[in-house]
Amino acid sequence: MNTESVILLETVNFAAEKHRKQRRKDPEGTPYINHPIGVARILSHEGGITDIEVLQAALLHDSVEDTDTSIAELDAAFGQTVAGIVQEVTDDKSLPKQERKRLQVEHAPHCSHQAKLVKLADKLYNLRDLNRCVPTGWTAERVQEYFLWACQVVKGLKDTNPALEAKLQELFTQRGVEL
Ligand code: NDP
Ligand code: ZN
Repeated sequence: MNTESVILLETVNFAAEKHRKQRRKDPEGTPYINHPIGVARILSHEGGITDIEVLQAALLHDSVEDTDTSIAELDAAFGQTVAGIVQEVTDDKSLPKQERKRLQVEHAPHCSHQAKLVKLADKLYNLRDLNRCVPTGWTAERVQEYFLWACQVVKGLKDTNPALEAKLQELFTQRGVEL
């Protein structure tokens, strides 16, 4: 097995252990790890991305926001590039939710190319998940609001990956949301 495969397995195992007790918000309560794996897979399979640090950051992208993982821990385990990308895509949890959402829109255009790729794939995965089934307790209006907000973020990620952007565009068009 080549070195990169070994590194990717280490990374996916780290993420699986960190997210082991978490479930997605869909009614079936899908294991949370399906999401980071799916985001990395969107990047490789649909985005044509082979940059291993981007794929690692995708696997780890929710570990700091949603588990007890620290950036220092990621830095020690996977290096500063991966840790830096994860930091860029991590919301400040001390802020109210509305403010966090506003800051994602504001910060998107200023992110690194690598972080923009992870953000595009994350939004694409979440929007597909919402199309697949509505999370427990969500109204149709809340789903539509999420599409509107995601569109505002994606506007700030233009000219990053044509394939992923075209797929996002299609989902926004289906919902009548203007990119
Ligand atoms: P979100 O509304 O942002 O929930 C969506 C996030 O949950 C996604 O970004 C994703 O994040 C994660 N997620 C987990 N499972 C799924 C899934 N199956 N499909 C899609 N996404 C999934 O967060 P909160 O629930 O914390 O609510 C915050 C905001 O929602 C507030 O700003 C508030 O304004 C608004 N709100 C609106 C209501 C309404 O009726 N309109 C009611 C209540 C709140 P990740 O990639 O990190 O996993
Ligand atoms: Zn995510």
